[in-house]
Amino acid sequence: MNDLNFEDCLLNIPYPQHDIYNSLSMPVYNAAAYEFKTAADMEAAFCGKTADHTYSRISNPTVHYFEERVKHITGAYNVTAFNSGMAAISNVFMSIAYSGANIVTSRHLFGNTYSFFANTLKAFDVEVRFCDLTNEEDTRKNIDENTCAIFLEIITNPQMEVVDLSVISALAKEKNVPLIADTTIISFSVFKATNVGIDIEVVSSTKYISGGATSVGGLIIDYASFDWTKNKRLSEVANDHGNYTFNFKLRKEIHRNFGAYMNPGTAHLQTIGLETLQLRYEKQSRTCLELAKRLKTLKGVEYVNYTGLSDNPFYELSCLQFGETPGAMLTFDLASKDACFRFMDKLKAIRRATNLFDNKSLAIHPASTIYGNFSQTQRDAMNVSDKTVRLSVGLESVDFLHDDIKQALVKNY
Ligand SMILES: *Cc1c(COP(=O)(O)O)cnc(C)c1O
Repeated sequence: MNDLNFEDCLLNIPYPQHDIYNSLSMPVYNAAAYEFKTAADMEAAFCGKTADHTYSRISNPTVHYFEERVKHITGAYNVTAFNSGMAAISNVFMSIAYSGANIVTSRHLFGNTYSFFANTLKAFDVEVRFCDLTNEEDTRKNIDENTCAIFLEIITNPQMEVVDLSVISALAKEKNVPLIADTTIISFSVFKATNVGIDIEVVSSTKYISGGATSVGGLIIDYASFDWTKNKRLSEVANDHGNYTFNFKLRKEIHRNFGAYMNPGTAHLQTIGLETLQLRYEKQSRTCLELAKRLKTLKGVEYVNYTGLSDNPFYELSCLQFGETPGAMLTFDLASKDACFRFMDKLKAIRRATNLFDNKSLAIHPASTIYGNFSQTQRDAMNVSDKTVRLSVGLESVDFLHDDIKQALVKNY
């Protein structure tokens, strides 16, 4: 992030090169292909000797501009933008996993990430080892010479588990395994992945970054901090490309072959979203903390889960890693699934919808929706309870949201 503070960094980036109209914001280059003056220029671009764009599945000026903005504020070596958060996650593992490899992770994962590990990768003989990442010994004993990554979510959704990142990154370094984290839940403004030894960050930019649920997108943020000679599949390439191997593999092969690059319209929207990221994050997470405190006093609410509450088991770790207002998502438990449904049906201002960090507050019952296709046994193993409602807090005032929750709880328990 250089020497600038975060707000300034979000807005202060030199335009790489003016378009013919000197447009102040990056235009949307809705072009599939790019023309060359000579065949030699074309050869140079296709063979990577120049940075010219050739085809928009591979790179595009508007998307590149968005990637550069994220690179500027994170200090990453490279950023690649995708069609969705899931595309970012799957492209990471398509780049580093191999038949016989294993991934050490937790059962506390976003539903599709869990399914990608447990179902999709399994078909390619990649094993997923679910363990308790808050327990160093349990994590350690699951790592072996075929572990291609330790993967975690920095605050798990919806269980709100927080791992001590200094412990897990020290273990990853000791074992020569890359630490890969889904950091969607906390904004870049308060969380610096490199400070805690994360090698690759994946983000669903659909959430905070899109600027109010404007579009679906994902990012792979590569810090080039891992020595890829330690990965069985990449070690040969790593002899030539060292720490830049992951990026080389991703940009030259995997992302081109899977064809899930972000489209320019999305990049345009999300670049604008990025500019107000801190403003929205601060307000939404402050409201979330206040709402969490008030929810605890309401009759019918059995438990409020937000790591910014001082009686939360992860409170201290969460303050240390993410500050005092750790994001705009909380969950709370009511007496039963029926009580949750009755509550949700009575909401007037808070919308019944999935997604996180829209400008509008959203409520969902995770067990019957995001985890609806899992068996009861699987949901139990993942600690997804059918008594839990998840709330994503938007830009409305605390009082407005509090009033809506109160009226929806009346005679509900
Ligand atoms: C939403 C989400 C994803 C998936 O992102 P999409 O953009 O919906 O594909 C992954 N991880 C977390 C933590 C999420 O909240």
